[in-house]
Amino acid sequence: MVVPVLHASIPETANAARPVARRLVFGIPGIPNTQEGAGSSSSSTEALPEVADEFGVDTALADIQYEEDEIYVGRVFKSKTDCKIKLAIHAMNRKFHFRTPRSSPAMLLAQCVGNGCPWRVYAVLLDASGKFQVRQANLIHSCTVHERRNYHKLATTQVIGEIMQSRFVGIKRGPTATAIRKIMLDEFHVNVSYWKAWRARELAMDHAMGTMVGSYSLIPAYLALLQSSNEGMTCFLESTDAEDGGRRFKYCFVAYGASISGYPSMRKVVVVDGTSLKGKFGGCLLSASAQDGNFQVFPLAFAVVDSENDDAWE
Ligand SMILES: [Zn+2]
Repeated sequence: MVVPVLHASIPETANAARPVARRLVFGIPGIPNTQEGAGSSSSSTEALPEVADEFGVDTALADIQYEEDEIYVGRVFKSKTDCKIKLAIHAMNRKFHFRTPRSSPAMLLAQCVGNGCPWRVYAVLLDASGKFQVRQANLIHSCTVHERRNYHKLATTQVIGEIMQSRFVGIKRGPTATAIRKIMLDEFHVNVSYWKAWRARELAMDHAMGTMVGSYSLIPAYLALLQSSNEGMTCFLESTDAEDGGRRFKYCFVAYGASISGYPSMRKVVVVDGTSLKGKFGGCLLSASAQDGNFQVFPLAFAVVDSENDDAWE
């Protein structure tokens, strides 16, 4: 019930934008892109940013490839947090550890923890959009293996969530917390606790698929679009006032026009059933189906309610 809302606006552009979406976030004019020639012509690069921005797809899909962790002068990150996460992944892949001796909303200085090691990256706020750009980068190390040993401290929940994000796109369930621990150990040689892996999984799922709150908030717009494009359909949405002044979802009912117009031709059987919804908001999905002349199931209507109580059935 919740998922189709997101799919409705994305399918046509998402696949086309995917290969070049990274370029519009991380690539800036004049800076050679390391992924040059990977199926993206210059014309498509220029045409797609507007499309991606319009649907907000850039943030959702641009970062699904974490492998590209190169740091170079001129590279742009979408935020300071993103910059720190990418630096952490860069460092974990290269088995060293950095600290940030200077950090403010407008700048970030990262230095290798090694005593006297010259590795440093300096990034500054680019504009009002919050993007950060690398201005200086010295990527040479002089530190010892001993000084680098604490690189696993960079594996915070956010960093792991970012790394795992790509594994939750387009599939129902990504890796479990246990699988995430194994991936972190195998690929990054970092041992993380089960609890940290579990929180990282929640973060990755939110990033990849959107939050449940976000999906629920799209229901009114989705139903309005359905009604305008689906002749004869009946839908109904009830919400209550929340304490903070917003609206809180209560019931939702959908019967498509095709279901309504097909109902008179069905056999005289209507099956009504309900099932509990998983997820933190719970609730029940109710459905009504009939049987057609060929003994096949014919869906009539769906509803999402808080629970199977008398009010909801009415
Ligand atoms: Zn170093």
